[in-house]
Amino acid sequence: MADKVIAVADHRYRASLPIVPAKLVAPSGELRDSLHRPLGDLRISVTDRCNFRCSYCMPKEVFDRHYAFLPQSSLLSFEEITRLAALFVAHGVGKIRLTGGEPLLRRDLERLVAMLAQLPTVDRTPLDLTLTTNGSLLERKAAALRTAGLGRVTVSLDALDDAIFRRMNDADFPVADVLRGIDAAERAGLGPIKVNMVVKRGTNDQEIVPMARHFRGRDVALRFIEYMDVGATNGWRMDEVLPSAEVVRRLGAEFELAPVPASTPGETAERWRYGDGTAGEIGTISSVTKAFCRDCNRARLSTEGKLFLCLFASRGHDLRGLVRGGASDAEIAAAIGLIWQARADRYSELRGSAPGPRHADERRVEMHYIGG
Ligand code: SAM
Repeated sequence: MADKVIAVADHRYRASLPIVPAKLVAPSGELRDSLHRPLGDLRISVTDRCNFRCSYCMPKEVFDRHYAFLPQSSLLSFEEITRLAALFVAHGVGKIRLTGGEPLLRRDLERLVAMLAQLPTVDRTPLDLTLTTNGSLLERKAAALRTAGLGRVTVSLDALDDAIFRRMNDADFPVADVLRGIDAAERAGLGPIKVNMVVKRGTNDQEIVPMARHFRGRDVALRFIEYMDVGATNGWRMDEVLPSAEVVRRLGAEFELAPVPASTPGETAERWRYGDGTAGEIGTISSVTKAFCRDCNRARLSTEGKLFLCLFASRGHDLRGLVRGGASDAEIAAAIGLIWQARADRYSELRGSAPGPRHADERRVEMHYIGG
């Protein structure tokens, strides 16, 4: 019998070990990429597992009981995540979003939240620490997450109609539980809450106006997201995309809408409030019909510690390799700096004209793996 077990690393997507420059430049907090975009927002996927099987993200036919999710040894530990997050924050990141998979499936997530909440930002303002969830476990976890230091949550919710919701999550999960989760998050002080609805023409577009009616009058920002061609498994078709302009037209026929100016650079949503002064806000995220690459300040850290610079990337940078290979903080920070400075990604702007993958192992990364 072998007396030593060596964990086999999972190399799901192509990734290269980052170059550590000979001269270690310390983070200035003002990193810019090749298109002059700052690094402001880090999304961290804490698990590749999810208890939903939304067909646009993790279709059941692919992610079935035979699918090999990442082994525990591949996942970054909370200590490794916090160490890397601190280096990103030193480079100027002011916002961290925990995602997945379903982040609330990661055991003791509150412990990670508490560790990240301590990170000092470059300008000494509190870190904007948030989480995206399908809401299924939120009722149980909202208070503990708030106590640990989580600032806000975004809840994904694609329909109010129970039959449509169950069909879309493809796990027969009832909508009432998610609505109770949103209420619990509001009570715990995890607001202002965002609710994200992915709109698929012919599947849930009849829910647009009912969703707005439901959340109108509450301190909730409802976002309608165009169905995107992320990953390689959802069978995306342009005719299933309902353009945001049509969403706004339908809402405008029902409510008086007043545009809200962007509050932060790089904001992905176009926003409206209700013209009659009723509380609530709606927004659209038009990554297909109105790409916003030129303002993209987001980096994504996958569940197993690979850095991706675009939601539509097919190659990552293996930061875990540096962490577990014994690199120092100064070396890893300098490597991150070099990677961001070379960044030129703008997939959504080039969509259609961009060449397809050349090899099977250059398929686009799945969203549950790098996080939404
Ligand atoms: N499980 C969490 C959740 O449901 O919010 C976090 C991960 S999920 C991948 C993050 C977000 O990505 C969700 O709002 C989901 O609806 C969105 N998403 C996934 N696939 C998408 C697609 N093809 N187009 C647009 N949004 C998508």
